[in-house]
Amino acid sequence: MGRRLPRRKNQRKIAKRRERTSAIAAAQTQEGPVFEDVAFAKAGLELAERQAGYGAWFWNLQTGSLYMTPNACAVLGIEEGVSAFDDILAAIHEEDREEVSARVQAHLDAREAYDLACRIRRPDGEVRWIRSRGHVSAGADGAPAMFAGSIEDTTYQVETLNELQRSELRFRSLIDSAPFPVVITRPSDRSLRYVNESMAELLEVLGKSADTLSVPDLMSDTATYEKLRAQLLAKGVTENFEMSVERADGTPLWLLIKGLIIDYEGEPCAYLILLDVTERRELEEKLRVQATSDSLTGVANRAELLDQLEFAISVSNRTDEGFALLLLDLDNFKMVNDTRGHSVGDKLLVETSKRLHELVRNTDTVARIGGDEFAIIARHLDQTHGVSVLAQKIIDALAEPFYIDGIAMTAGCSIGIAHYPWDKGDPELLMQNADLALYRAKDEGRGCFQLFDEELSRAVHERMHLEHDLRIALDTDQFFVMYQPRFDAETREPVAGEALARWNHPDKGLISPGLFIPIAEETGLVIDLGRVVLDRVVSDIARWREEGLNVGPMSVNISPIHLAAGCVLEDVFGTLKKHNVPAQCLQVEVTESAMITDEESASSQIKALADGGIEILIDDFGTGYSSLSYLHRFTAHELKIDRSFVSNVHEATSAILARQIVSIGKSLNLKIVAEGVETDAQADFMTAIGCDELQGFLLSRPIKAPDFETLMRDRQARILAKKA
Ligand code: C2E
Ligand code: MG
Ligand code: MG
Repeated sequence: MGRRLPRRKNQRKIAKRRERTSAIAAAQTQEGPVFEDVAFAKAGLELAERQAGYGAWFWNLQTGSLYMTPNACAVLGIEEGVSAFDDILAAIHEEDREEVSARVQAHLDAREAYDLACRIRRPDGEVRWIRSRGHVSAGADGAPAMFAGSIEDTTYQVETLNELQRSELRFRSLIDSAPFPVVITRPSDRSLRYVNESMAELLEVLGKSADTLSVPDLMSDTATYEKLRAQLLAKGVTENFEMSVERADGTPLWLLIKGLIIDYEGEPCAYLILLDVTERRELEEKLRVQATSDSLTGVANRAELLDQLEFAISVSNRTDEGFALLLLDLDNFKMVNDTRGHSVGDKLLVETSKRLHELVRNTDTVARIGGDEFAIIARHLDQTHGVSVLAQKIIDALAEPFYIDGIAMTAGCSIGIAHYPWDKGDPELLMQNADLALYRAKDEGRGCFQLFDEELSRAVHERMHLEHDLRIALDTDQFFVMYQPRFDAETREPVAGEALARWNHPDKGLISPGLFIPIAEETGLVIDLGRVVLDRVVSDIARWREEGLNVGPMSVNISPIHLAAGCVLEDVFGTLKKHNVPAQCLQVEVTESAMITDEESASSQIKALADGGIEILIDDFGTGYSSLSYLHRFTAHELKIDRSFVSNVHEATSAILARQIVSIGKSLNLKIVAEGVETDAQADFMTAIGCDELQGFLLSRPIKAPDFETLMRDRQARILAKKA
């Protein structure tokens, strides 16, 4: 049951009302002389009672005779002339009769106030309500002489009152048992006047007691409460307000509150309906989190990152404080994902985001914006030092191994950084700038960071243009091949050649492979380029063969990317077949890095090439990912010692290394070629330590096909001359 709460300030009013009532009663019961001229009194009374709608009665206590006016008889439904009290009593409803009798007696005995309401039963059986009031007056001797009073039919008033009470009860029970909390409060002192059952339960959940409580105790969100109160007092009704309160166990509970001013027990009170909307708020929060976070790692997603960037820019514009945007790309994620499977890859991403979270401040934002790409908004950092320290900390942290399913693996990362406000722009532009810096960081060997600046932007854009031009170059035949002869170390006669690609850019002129090969590899265009070179070289060989010119074996460089794509065999043998050239005329140069991505596939393709009669040369030996174990597993015929060893042979260490490489190669039955021979001293040294062939600017730069042809024709002539 809902509960009326004790009134606190209306006691005075009640007392006043009581005073007034007793004054009226006193006036009514004033002692006066008993009417002596009964006829006169009767006439006056009849007139008065007709007008007032009630009857009167007079009971002479000394004689016992009772006189009821005609109106009084009409009210009771008895015949006029009845003069005995018992006859009157007989008209009273049987259930009320005893009490009426007792009340009359009590008045006669003790002068208790006589004002009673009771039911009567009229002769036709109809039950009606009457009200009878009266008092006893004393005679000259002071003894009770006359008991007189009035009687009126109050059926209408009683029924109206009953109906009112019934409807109030109905209304109350509706509110009492309403499935939502209702509270009635008094705005003047903010006290609680009424709480329904649901509200009582809610108070229990909140750990509060209705008796001692005032509204502010309930509303911890004072700002919203004051707004609601102001609206209520100003307009008498409020909009829907939502505020959170704290449950006894400390968890938040969300309430929707609507209020209006009503009259409650005679004074203006606030009628507040409260709805528990916690579930809806929690769902909204869940949806908000889903919309703003990455489902795998729980960190912010791209959309949220852009929002946060927008916000960080506006804060920075107001406060002059800078922030940095760091874009991170995991260096080894693809390898982990490919070799260990997606579920391990996923775990690595989760662990990475956790580690990143630990490294930044609470006010910073960590987001995952792509497969293995993360972003961080680092606030309150100075332009270079602070951000560099943070970037290095992240690189170091991600270089530490993660233990996933008991296996240690490292993610490693490269970072590109843009800084606001030094690097101007909107969120998209900042992302682009950081991305350019990341592009450069990856280009510079990964595991490092790059800060964006205009210079970097120019360089990166130039590179991007080259990438674009490279695609066009392949379609418009801008590539050609130069040949660099290889010479026999002893005789210094040209005995073989290496085909080297050249790009004749329509605006920029000749572009070095050192510039375009990495871009071609990154974009995968190197496969198409490899096919173009193969076709040129093999068609040249076919032509020389037709002309009866023996140029010796010609090597082509095959990129690790081409090998990884798995189409090298088809491309090489297909081209040889197309031009009807035997495999022995072609050699393939591969670097050891070819073995890094997928050793098994690379070595089986290399073996198949060798099995098909093509000689394999290991290029740039001694650089990059050199591992002697590869030598063992590689099917190879020749080893090309990298130019860096050759050009430094005057230094003791390089000389020792060159010697060692030659001896290892020899022990594996490999032919040894010295690359980049530029001086006679280098040529002599490399020859002396056992190299079979020499290649370098000393003996010949890469030359165009006709020059190479002439070189070889001259050699052929010299051989023929010798024989003759
Ligand atoms: P590489 O295969 O090691 O080729 C030898 C490079 O050394 C050539 O550079 C050549 O011009 C240069 N070189 C030769 N002798 C000397 C010398 O005495 N001194 C100096 N400083 N350099 C010398 P190039 O033509 O610029 O090629 C650079 C690299 O680009 C090549 O190194 C090769 O890895 C790659 N490359 C060239 N053409 C192709 C191609 O058709 N396909 C692929 N995949 N890579 C190619
Ligand atoms: Mg080469
Ligand atoms: Mg080389």
